[in-house]
Formats: sequence, structure tokens, C-alpha cells
Amino acid sequence: MDERGILNATPTQLLIGGGWRDGSAGRLPVEDPSTGEVLCEVADASAGDALAALDAAAAAQGAWASTAPRERGEILRRAFDAMIDRREELALLMTLEMGKNIGESRAEITYAAEFLRWFSEEAVRISGRWSNEPSGAGRLLTMKQPVGPCLLITPWNFPAAMGTRKIGPAVAAGCTMVVKPAKQTPLSMLALAGILTEAGLPDGVLNLIVSSKSGSIVAPLLADQRLRKLSFTGSTEVGRLLMEQASGNLLRLSMELGGNAPYLVFGDADLDAAVEQALIAKMRNMGQSCVAANRFHVHESVAGEFARRLTDRMGRLRTGRGTEEGVDVGPLIDADQRSKVAELVGDAVDRGASIELGGVVPPGRGWFYPPTVLSGVRPGTRLLREEIFGPVAPVAPFSSDEEALAAANDSEFGLVAYVFTRDVKRALRVVEGLQSGMVGLNKGLVSNPAAPFGGVKQSGFGREGGFEGIEEYLATKYVAVDL
Ligand code: NAD
Repeated sequence: MDERGILNATPTQLLIGGGWRDGSAGRLPVEDPSTGEVLCEVADASAGDALAALDAAAAAQGAWASTAPRERGEILRRAFDAMIDRREELALLMTLEMGKNIGESRAEITYAAEFLRWFSEEAVRISGRWSNEPSGAGRLLTMKQPVGPCLLITPWNFPAAMGTRKIGPAVAAGCTMVVKPAKQTPLSMLALAGILTEAGLPDGVLNLIVSSKSGSIVAPLLADQRLRKLSFTGSTEVGRLLMEQASGNLLRLSMELGGNAPYLVFGDADLDAAVEQALIAKMRNMGQSCVAANRFHVHESVAGEFARRLTDRMGRLRTGRGTEEGVDVGPLIDADQRSKVAELVGDAVDRGASIELGGVVPPGRGWFYPPTVLSGVRPGTRLLREEIFGPVAPVAPFSSDEEALAAANDSEFGLVAYVFTRDVKRALRVVEGLQSGMVGLNKGLVSNPAAPFGGVKQSGFGREGGFEGIEEYLATKYVAVDL
């Protein structure tokens, strides 16, 4: 299917109670970030539409909770198969709306589909326990039940995977849901909603709304007592706001928020591996990832060599429209994101950093920013503290393990950290001391559907994937049994 074909085949309306319908707030444009041109328009939901979506989720909850776990699992499994069968067209759709290169989009579709397969297997493994009271007199029965209707809010950077790692466990657990993707990239989620419907998901279990004014349609949902849970992936700033709004209703919360990953390279590290993995950790999604390596702390004995090799590898990456085979680096998502990246690089240079590569906004259409390496980055520079969300690699030297660990932990965030060393004792000491929810040990990619993804500190709480992922959608009920 070509670009026009896949756009024409993708639903552009809201999905409420099993029916596709127009939005009461009109339509909103979806743009191609590599050209700035409008690809298509999708329905724009009003607060009334959002409440209609919650009505449908609430109405479907009782029947859905009592379906057989195997049936829920098989729906997910069929949706997994359909995503894999349609990987090529889904990848093209993702690249069109988000900009990442087509190879990365293919990889994301596979990764996203794998959450559906993982949770199709978890649906039939929800269990409780039966135990004795310590006195021996009575019995303790513990059971797990679906939490109830959920609101699932996702960002634009991984338009499919951020959805399936919430939708998969919610479906498996027996929860109904209202899904709200980011307005920049609604098409991948609309296509996914179509796939889940075709896979047999009953009407009202998954409702999808898109909005140009998220705040005004989400607040009334959070205040509605029929909603029982919010799972949010996005910025820490918006996460905090939603947590406040959700407090009135005491919602169960999962918060997957911002990151500022340190990438530690010790003097004994395999430098080839550290450079190759750095490319993945830094450049996947043009650096627009919560787990992107934000800052490279490198032992002074190898810092110069590491920066040289990284500059060489990043300098050979090809920038362009992500739909073209062979392109490594696509555009950033929009003008705001690009201005923020340029501002952070400007601040680093003002404070004494040297530009080894890139650092200049190119002329022409689209929101491109070149792969950039900065050396000699001084303490206090903004991009050591703030999430860059762009293809910029600051390298700062350290002289001892203690200094490296202190620099790594000197952040309000704590999502992931990367550690490169061949010394087992040092590796384990550093891993234990890192304040982060995840660590990549001699590895630049941690994401895996079978692993618990999530952070500590201002990166949030709750875990997605692994055995932990489904627990976020289950409530524990305990029954005191008198024999
Ligand atoms: P964002 O916080 O601006 O938006 C995320 C979602 O929230 C979008 O759907 C958006 O429409 C919605 N939203 C924004 N304001 C809202 C409001 N007032 N009320 C209700 N909804 C609102 O984030 P973004 O720019 O889309 O995504 C980038 C951020 O997401 C980065 O900080 C990144 O680190 C984070 N992220 C975290 C993870 C993780 O798993 N920890 C994964 C991916 C992205």
C-alpha cells in the first residue's frame, strides 16, 4: 500500500461504544513533520464526546469482566497476528505522522504487537491464594479482579507501543477503557483500534477519543466516579497536573513520565560496544525517547576517544524523510521541539562546551535537527539536567567511580541508566547505587515486553510489561473465611 492508500484506509473518527462517529468539536489536522504538510484530518472530541466514551466503557465493564480469560487472551492474540501481518502498512503510517525512519517504525510495530502477545498469555495466569490464619482458626482467600474503567493517555513519540503496553494488560485483566492518544500522532492508534475491533473486542471495551484540547476533555473524566484508573505516559509536568486532578476521585494511577538517562562509560569498558550501543541509546527516535541517553559521563582516560568515535559514527548518519530507505535520522516532531533542542545546545555552548558535530538548524522544510556531539560540557549546563528529546550527545568526563555515580544520580529523574564496564564488581556496585527504575548493563536498549518498564523519583511509578504490568489493572479482594 502506498502513502495515500494507507491514509485512506485508516479510520479518522472517534470510536465510541463500537461505533465510529464524528467529533462534536470538528476536525483537527495531522501533519507530516518532515514537510509540515497536512496528511489528513481526524475527528476532534468535545468534553461531551469524552463522557460518551466513558458511558460506553462503564456500560460494558460488567459483562467484559465476566468473560473467560481465554477469550480475552485470544482476542489479544488475534490482534497480535493482525499487527504482524500488516506491519509494513502500519509502519508507513507511523513514519508519516511521527517522522521516525521506516526501519524504526517496523521495529516499533513488532515491539508494540509483542505486548499484545505477552498479555494474551498473562490473561489466563491471573490468580489468587488460599491460606491459613496464623492462629489456624480461619482461612484467608485472596482474589484479583479488574480495577474497572480506565483512562489511558499516551504521548506522540511511540504512537503504537505506548498504547499496547496499556491496552494489552487492561484487556487481559478485564477492564474497559477510554484511550486518548496525542493529537500529533492519532493515526497509529486509530488503526490499532480498528485491528482490535476486527479481532473481536466487544463494543464499548475500547473507546478512542482524539482532542485538540486535551485538558478540557480529560478533566471531566478524571472527576467522574465511574472512572477507576488513569494510566498516563507523557511529561512529568502534565503527569503532576493529572495526579492532582485525579486525587479528588482517588484514582489508581500509573505514571510513566520524563527521563534524563545517564550513560556511564568506565575506563575498562569495551569502547567499540559502548559507542555502538550509544548510537541506539541516543539516536533511536531522533533522541525523542524517555529512555534516550541524555548525557554521557565518560572516564577521563577514554573521554576524548569516545567522543571522537561517537562523532565519527553520528556524522555518518543520513538525515531525511523517514519513508526513504537508507535514511537514519528523521525530523523532530514539531517546531516547538526543535526550538527547545536548539536552545539547550545554545546554552551549553554559552557555558563553554565545544560543538564536535552538528549544532546548526538546517534550512528548508520539516523540523530537522542534525546529529550533534558536544564535548567539554560543564557542570550546571541545562542539558545535563533537562530532558533534551533530540539528537544531541553531551560528553562530560569523570575521574572516579564515586564521581560518576554522584553525577548519574544528580537528577530529579530516575527512569533508566546505562553502564559500560567489564569489571563485574564495579558493575554490580554501580547498578546498586543508581537511582533509577531500570539499568542497561553493557546494553543501550532496555525495552522488552517481558520486563517491568518504569521509573522512580520524578520519572513516575507503576510498571508496564513483565509480570508486573497486569497488576496495575487488578484490584485485590480478600475474604475472611470462617470454617
Ligand atoms: P505531554 O505530557 O505533553 O503529553 C502526553 C499526553 O498527555 C498527550 O496525549 C497529550 O495530549 C496529553 N496531555 C497534555 N496536556 C494534558 C492535559 N492538561 N490534560 C490531559 N492530557 C494532557 O508529553 P509528550 O510531549 O506527548 O511526550 C513526551 C514526554 O513523554 C517526555 O517527557 C517523555 O519522557 C515522556 N515519555 C515517557 C515514557 C515512559 O514510559 N516513562 C515513555 C514515552 C514518553
